[in-house]
This record gives sequence, C-alpha cells and structure tokens, in this order.
Amino acid sequence: MRTLNFDNKLPLLYLVATPIGNLDEMSPRALEIIKNADLIACEDTRVSGKLLSFFNISKPLLSLREHNEVSEAKNIIEKIKEGKKVVYMSDAGYPCISDPGSKLVKLALENGINVSSISGPNAMLNALVCSGLETDHFYFHGFLSAKEKIKKEELRKLASKEETMIFYEAPHRIQETLCDMFEILGNRKACIARELTKLHEEFIRDTLQNLSLLDPETLKGEMVIVVEGKNKEEQPILDDSEIIKMVNNLVNSGLSTKDAIKKVSELTKQNKNSIYKIYHLN
Ligand code: SAM
Repeated sequence: MRTLNFDNKLPLLYLVATPIGNLDEMSPRALEIIKNADLIACEDTRVSGKLLSFFNISKPLLSLREHNEVSEAKNIIEKIKEGKKVVYMSDAGYPCISDPGSKLVKLALENGINVSSISGPNAMLNALVCSGLETDHFYFHGFLSAKEKIKKEELRKLASKEETMIFYEAPHRIQETLCDMFEILGNRKACIARELTKLHEEFIRDTLQNLSLLDPETLKGEMVIVVEGKNKEEQPILDDSEIIKMVNNLVNSGLSTKDAIKKVSELTKQNKNSIYKIYHLN
C-alpha cells in the first residue's frame, strides 16, 4: 500500500530522536512536533519529563517500555485513532534502536496508522563515522548478550563478517567484552567511542588487544565499540573440531602440545589463547 505521510488524511505516529548527551542537538523540528502533540509516549517519564522541562514544554506523558510495550502500544493506537497527535521518544537517541518502539511501530502500521521519524542523534552513527574504519558497509549488533557463554557464541558467529561491526556496551562489561572480542575475533583494529556529544567525548582507536588491556577505571560512561570487519585475506575461521584435529596431527608428527598450539595459531592466524582453550577444554 502506498500512502503519503503528510497529506493530513491518515493518522500519524511521530518517532522523535532525542539527544544522547548534548541537549543542543534537540532539533527545532523535533521541538515543534512535540509542542503540537497531545500526548508524549516515552520510555521513562522522568527522563523525558526533564528533557521537556529544559525546553519549557509541558505535555501529558505516558510510559511505554520494554515490559509493557504491547499493552501500552494498543492503548496508544486507540488514542491516535481518536484523533490525538502522539509522539514516541525513548530515553536517548532513536526509538527502536536498542530501545523500545518497534512493536508500537508494527502495531501502528497494522492499524493503518502512518509512521514518521524526526531525525536526530544516534550513538552508533557518531561512533562509526569517527572510528576511522570502513564505513561503506557496516553491521549494527547493538548489545551482545550479558551471559558470557552466549556472548562468545554470538561473537563466533560474527567472526566471518567482512563489514565493520558496531556494538553498544555497558561500562561494567566493557573490559570483559573487549577481551572476548580479542580472543574470538583476533587482533583487529577497533575504536571505543565514549561519552559522545558530551564534554568528555573521547575516541580510543587501537587494536583489540591494546583496548582489552586498558584500565577499566578509565572507561566510564556510555560507550560504543566499533570493530574492523574480517580481512578478506584472512584464513577462514575453523570450527573447534578442525582446530583440535590440526593440533593432534602436529602432536602426532612429534611437536609438543605447546608448540603444536603455537603453530596452529600461526597457520590459522587465530589467537593462541583461544586455540589453547579449544584444545584443552573440549
Ligand atoms: N537509542 C539509542 C541510539 O539511538 O543510539 C541507544 C540506546 S541504548 C539503550 C544505550 C547505549 O547506547 C549505551 O549503553 C551506549 O552503548 C550507547 N550510547 C548512548 N549514548 C551514548 C553516548 N553519548 N556515547 C556513547 N555511547 C552512547
């Protein structure tokens, strides 16, 4: 179905991107849309309430977050059908990007309500464009699992991607994640983009090995990790059984286990510690 967003015939849900730090990034268009809205649906009413009061705007707020997204989405759709102008914003950046909103969008479209996005700040793009890494093709992962085992599985699946990869991460997990990335993806170039748009904005461009050795005390605040994609020249990532077979073959031909692991690491260009773990823990 083809419909124009601004022909004033169909009801419209506005998604408004909000600042990820610097409040000057709230666009005049976003403020205008909010001023004309009847209702602001948002992730956390305290966060959005503060933002609106900074701009001297007072509007009814309704919370739609991860745990109530489906039920509140239905409620919001009813209000839009009644003729109310509704805006949805998350706590920071774009709604639906590692934030709630996508279920609301889906339900709106299913109910014949058009959706329009008011452009604004977003952490992944700021990090990517300043990373110095390839930007023609990229892959956004958002948050890796907080569970170590699942996180490592996710990284193994990503190891063969040639596109630059972008991850969101919390400060209390950053060091562990950088170590996992070094172990599984190898010593690629990467960039930590910290406190984007804020006073202490910082970009740390280095290898995954060096980044994993940084003092976590110096990695506070909000962070994005941008990692170089797999080099096309690199050897394919072998699965665990193939690695074990290679080590065993070398051991059978007379090398010590330690030397065999070193050799397999050189041959496969995979990290020695990760080969050691695969060999000894399987
Ligand atoms: N919706 C947001 C967007 O469009 O970027 C992302 C929200 S997600 C819940 C929050 C994560 O985004 C943070 O943990 C961090 O990884 C990243 N992030 C948000 N603001 C940031 C900032 N100012 N600097 C660096 N990373 C930021």
